[in-house]
Amino acid sequence: MQVVIMGPPGAGKGTQAKLIAEHYGIPAISTGDIFRAMKTSDTPLARQVRAIMEAGGYVSDEITNEIVEDRLAQSDCEAGFLLDGYPRTLQQVQTLDDYLAKTNRPLNAVISLVADTEEVVAPLLRRAQIDGRADDNEDTIRVRLQVYADQTEPLLEVYRSRGALVEVDGHGEIQEVSERIFAALEAHGERPAAEYAR
Ligand code: ADP
Repeated sequence: MQVVIMGPPGAGKGTQAKLIAEHYGIPAISTGDIFRAMKTSDTPLARQVRAIMEAGGYVSDEITNEIVEDRLAQSDCEAGFLLDGYPRTLQQVQTLDDYLAKTNRPLNAVISLVADTEEVVAPLLRRAQIDGRADDNEDTIRVRLQVYADQTEPLLEVYRSRGALVEVDGHGEIQEVSERIFAALEAHGERPAAEYAR
C-alpha cells in the first residue's frame, strides 16, 4: 500500500501519519523529520537545509527528490509506505509518479487533512516552545502557510482529478481523526488493516 498524507502546517499530519503507518504496518516517511535530523550535522548541505527551513521555504526539489528516492529504495518500503510531507510541489509529484511506475506500484490514496489555517497558528507556537523548533515562530509560520497555499494546495486538484484524493476533517481529538481516516480509506476501497497484513 502506497499512501500520501497532505495538509497545511499544524494540521496534525505527523501524528496521524504515525498512527496510519502503524495501523497498516508500513513505514511513515516524513521529509520534515529527515531534514530536521540532517540539520544537526555540519556539512554545506545541512547548513543550506537549515537556512531554508528557518526561513519557512521549501528545500529544493533536486535535494528533496534524491533523499526520498534513496529512502524509498530501502527494504522496509517493500510492502509499501506512507509519505508525510511529500510530494509538496508539482515536480515532486512527477518524481513520485516516475518512481511508482518504475517499481510497478499504484498510489493507493492521497489523504488530505483539512484544517482551518487560522486555527493552526496557536498550536504551532505552543509546539515550538515544547520542541524548540526554530521554524515555528509566528512570522515563519505565516510564510509556511503561504508557501503551502501557493505551491502545495494545487496538488490537491491533481490528485482529485485522478480519483486518488481522500479528504478528511482534521479537527478534533487525535483518535477521532485517525478513525475518520481509516473509515475514509476503507470507503475509498482500501482493505482494512487486518486483511492487509495477510
Ligand atoms: P509542516 O508541514 O508542519 O510545515 P514538516 O515537518 O512537514 O512541517 O516540514 C518542515 C520543513 O521541512 C518545511 O517547512 C520545509 O522547509 C521542509 N520540507 C519538508 N518536506 C519538504 C518537501 N517535500 N519539499 C521541500 N521542503 C520540505
